[in-house]
Amino acid sequence: MEKKCPLCGGEMVKSRTRNAGYARYFWRAPWEKGLAKLGRGVEAYPWLCMKCGAIIPYVDEDLLEKLRVEFEKARAGGFRF
Ligand SMILES: [Zn+2]
Repeated sequence: MEKKCPLCGGEMVKSRTRNAGYARYFWRAPWEKGLAKLGRGVEAYPWLCMKCGAIIPYVDEDLLEKLRVEFEKARAGGFRF
């Protein structure tokens, strides 16, 4: 899967690993609550733009699809974001 940089249109290259040091979880679903959900975060892979040097974290498509389903469910259930 190829990505174009949203800032300059350059070619982006996905990082070999999704985390380096402590920079691992960038996002947690706001609809998650309760102790059962503790420790779960959404992991993103950093992509580097070879043209302008921007590094942007992206969530993999399969995980994103699951989050979309949860998001729609939460919104349909009246969750306010
Ligand atoms: Zn760029």
